[in-house]
Amino acid sequence: MAPPKSTSPDRDTPLQATLRFAHASGAWVVPGVAPPPERAAEPDVGAPGSRLERVRDALGECTRCRLSAGRTHLVFGVGNPDADLMFVGEAPGAEEDRRGEPFVGRAGQLLDRMLQAMGLTRRDVYIANVLKCRPPGNRDPGGDEAATCTPFLWQQIDAIRPRVICALGTHAARNLLAVEGSLASLRGRVHRCRGWAVVVTYHPAYLLRTPGDKRKTWQDLQRVMGLLATST
Ligand code: SF4
Repeated sequence: MAPPKSTSPDRDTPLQATLRFAHASGAWVVPGVAPPPERAAEPDVGAPGSRLERVRDALGECTRCRLSAGRTHLVFGVGNPDADLMFVGEAPGAEEDRRGEPFVGRAGQLLDRMLQAMGLTRRDVYIANVLKCRPPGNRDPGGDEAATCTPFLWQQIDAIRPRVICALGTHAARNLLAVEGSLASLRGRVHRCRGWAVVVTYHPAYLLRTPGDKRKTWQDLQRVMGLLATST
């Protein structure tokens, strides 16, 4: 079953409206992609930093999926716990696994330049991945691995409460939005997921291989900046 294409209920076809309602109510489940959990009730106690620390404590030295066996470090996330903008990638790579920090390899350097172009630094944003442990050989996340780890990502999001989430790459987008589809079909608009504004763009590692798509990425980042300038 194809997911609804439009993000605007006003422009939904009857079929899309039905799918949207079913999806929102949890009745529509895309095979292999878990629907996002209910948003945490607000207000949660404590500052964003302490809320985030509680998520990290709950994760612990996680062995909930097979990826724990091969990791050097669990890569939780980095940045400002009170950030308006959160970036979500796919999973740690070799360098991230070695250092315990997301986006520190060549892709991370490109993400730094993307931030610079937005007038931001890592201290202004929060950066995390769907998976906290490196898949062997940087293979794609398994559906069961993502299903096991994504609830902790949602807890991070609920702790930080960013105004905008930027999903980097197909796997981040699919797991956040609980839809299937190509990145090309998911970018170019603002999604609403559990109340959060989500913008999808290309993963920096992909852009290293396909620099011709940097222009489209810049369009997506401008969309993010527009949301940050207008959302309350
Ligand atoms: S990938 Fe996530 S669920 Fe799996 S062991 Fe690591 S932290 Fe736990």
